[in-house]
Amino acid sequence: MKIFPGMHYTMGGLWVDFKQATNIPGIFSAGECEYQYHGANRLGANSLVSCIFGGFVAGPAAVQYARNVAAASSNGHFEAERKHQEENNAILMKSEGTENPFKLWRELGELMTKNCTVIRYNKNLQETDAKLVELLERFRQINLSDRSNWANTTIVFARQLYNMLQLSRVIAQGAAMRDESRGAHYKPDFPERDDKNWLKTTKATFAPDADEPRFEFEPVDVSLIRPRARRY
Ligand SMILES: Cc1cc2nc3c(=O)[nH]c(=O)nc-3n(C[C@H](O)[C@H](O)[C@H](O)COP(=O)(O)OP(=O)(O)OC[C@H]3O[C@@H](n4cnc5c(N)ncnc54)[C@H](O)[C@@H]3O)c2cc1C
Repeated sequence: MKIFPGMHYTMGGLWVDFKQATNIPGIFSAGECEYQYHGANRLGANSLVSCIFGGFVAGPAAVQYARNVAAASSNGHFEAERKHQEENNAILMKSEGTENPFKLWRELGELMTKNCTVIRYNKNLQETDAKLVELLERFRQINLSDRSNWANTTIVFARQLYNMLQLSRVIAQGAAMRDESRGAHYKPDFPERDDKNWLKTTKATFAPDADEPRFEFEPVDVSLIRPRARRY
């Protein structure tokens, strides 16, 4: 069996504030699923620090939030989202295309493993993003092998595949923007870390109107500890 720790090469997750709160009120995040320490999370056990320390902060913060929040009177968001998701499911269930979601997933995995792991070239990253747009087009021609309404794992898989395709665009585009080498990512064309221009966190939001990610950058606060070169 071939095992490959693909998640090792992406270094990202949900944005959180100092209380581990995401930008969705009431949702807290800690560990692998949050953005952790500005991209250097795997090296030297920072991920384990993140899940342990982040968990210690997120747990009590979530309890405090729940205790202080007023009982939710329905604002319609939940029902609107449920309707939206049911519509998405119906589109997938009815789709009569020719694309097999498992094959698309395999192609996605091969593409990302080839171009978006440790060593990265801008040309390959840009080609990857173009290919991802193609895969998203093909996703719209999907055909589910199971259309039952009970224990249907194929539709769950297809929904996750769509999310993976969108997230892969964040990874490829975000990597292409950063002309430097940092943490576990190495660009042979830009072998040095560039703190002058890139000591900042890449933040992506999904723009549903454009059906693609939008990017902004957040400076990293280094006022307490100045960054040093990693020589080991
Ligand atoms: C090969 C490898 C080597 C690593 N080496 C290092 C290292 O040297 N140093 C370091 O610091 N870090 C390292 N890491 C990273 C570190 O191990 C992880 O960041 C850390 O274990 C994440 O812990 P977590 O609790 O946040 O997430 P996870 O350990 O991923 O836990 C998430 C849990 O949620 C469960 N789950 C998922 N979906 C659902 C659902 N819908 N409902 C209920 N449960 C669900 C999963 O089954 C899982 O048990 C490494 C990771 C890998 C893969």
